[in-house]
Amino acid sequence: MGRRKKRARVKKKPIKLIGKYFYCPRCGSLTMTVSFEKISETEKIGRATCGTCGLYCEVKVPMRAEKVDVYNMVADMAYEGGLESKCEERKVGEDMEEYAGEEEGE
Ligand SMILES: [Zn+2]
Repeated sequence: MGRRKKRARVKKKPIKLIGKYFYCPRCGSLTMTVSFEKISETEKIGRATCGTCGLYCEVKVPMRAEKVDVYNMVADMAYEGGLESKCEERKVGEDMEEYAGEEEGE
């Protein structure tokens, strides 16, 4: 009778949390997070939120963009001084509503 050796191999992938938090370009805290929402096959919305000062920013990015790309865009806006006009503040913990059709002039 064939005896099969059971090989208990647990695949454990360490979840790296590096890169989860970014430095907020406004208040400097390491509490800025980025999340994505797919809007089409090729584009998605990147949302940067700071858990400390409540900074909230949405940018449209290509599907392959990563969190750090969104962060860089937000940081650039902060540098250029356009953060206030392009972003808004949300209360921390408040549910984010869907972006209701306000078109950006490009
Ligand atoms: Zn902040």
